[in-house]
Amino acid sequence: MHDLIIVGGGPAGLTAGIYATRARLDVVLLEATAPGGQIMVSDLVENYPGFPGGISGGELMERMTEQVKLLELPIVSGEVASVDFSGPEKILHLTGGGKLSAKAVILATGAAHARLGVPGENRLFGRGVSFCATCDGPFYRGKTVVAVGGGDTAVQEALFLTRFAEKVYLVHRRDALRATRILQERAFANPKLEMVWDSVATGINGADGVESVSVKNVKTGKSKDIAADGCFIWVGIRPNTGFLGDALVLDKGGFIVADKHMATSAPGIFAAGDVRDTPLRQVSTAVGDAAIAAMSAEHYIEEEKS
Ligand SMILES: Cc1cc2nc3c(=O)[nH]c(=O)nc-3n(C[C@H](O)[C@H](O)[C@H](O)COP(=O)(O)OP(=O)(O)OC[C@H]3O[C@@H](n4cnc5c(N)ncnc54)[C@H](O)[C@@H]3O)c2cc1C
Repeated sequence: MHDLIIVGGGPAGLTAGIYATRARLDVVLLEATAPGGQIMVSDLVENYPGFPGGISGGELMERMTEQVKLLELPIVSGEVASVDFSGPEKILHLTGGGKLSAKAVILATGAAHARLGVPGENRLFGRGVSFCATCDGPFYRGKTVVAVGGGDTAVQEALFLTRFAEKVYLVHRRDALRATRILQERAFANPKLEMVWDSVATGINGADGVESVSVKNVKTGKSKDIAADGCFIWVGIRPNTGFLGDALVLDKGGFIVADKHMATSAPGIFAAGDVRDTPLRQVSTAVGDAAIAAMSAEHYIEEEKS
């Protein structure tokens, strides 16, 4: 039984690894694919401190991985399929058999943005197609963008985009937004934001970057192309928590509920990063969460020993 297992090798998991190895814990990091996480696909990260002019997501994560390797953090390849957190020995069952156990666990399994599943979306991802206005909004200064969605996040992000873009079209499948009333009021009062009601995006077009977005009115059946430089998609974000079953308290979106110490509803289990119920999902917030989670795990292990 290890002291600590960190599940997930994105920014949160690697940061937890830095703190845990420096605390001299017997720690293992378990990663389903390769270390790096979601940010690996981003060409330019401009809002992570310490890199004036920005850094690619790939290089940022290469540096973090290099740092944990220098600290000799063992990284094990494996995917958690189910868990048993009921006793003092926290057990992780792996896909394809096998298990690992520890006194404490940090869950840093991240999340994934839902996609529209339309032509052009995957091909132009990172070349005008984005899931993150906070990350990519500033690239659209003075430009036209199409945003897709109708919930709180979609409206909040679309409003944020109006700080940069000349025009933001918000495409929504219904004739009313799902977002809270105050956000709706702000959206309707914003002259740069134009609603495209009762419509779905059916394709994202362009050779090397987004040039237009095809939308179809679900009531009339009529289609049109909206000329745009970018397409932002907010049709949901899904946490990687399916393997937890009912082991922990989750919010209604399936994100792990944790307190200010990153402690979850089960003793010895901590959460960090995008997988947590949190108001902002960014690299900087993931690493902040992870530092706290590692410190809390260390305290928990010490207390259990004594
Ligand atoms: C296109 C894009 C651009 C972005 N741009 C920016 C930006 O400019 N600035 C910024 O701050 N943020 C940006 N973000 C957000 C940022 O990537 C995330 O907030 C950050 O990666 C969260 O880190 P994390 O470690 O919590 O989770 P993740 O990065 O999602 O890492 C989770 C890891 O856990 C692993 N995992 C999942 N399930 C299991 C399992 N069952 N067993 C074992 N391992 C598992 C996954 O393989 C993955 O490696 C962007 C995101 C995207 C998608």
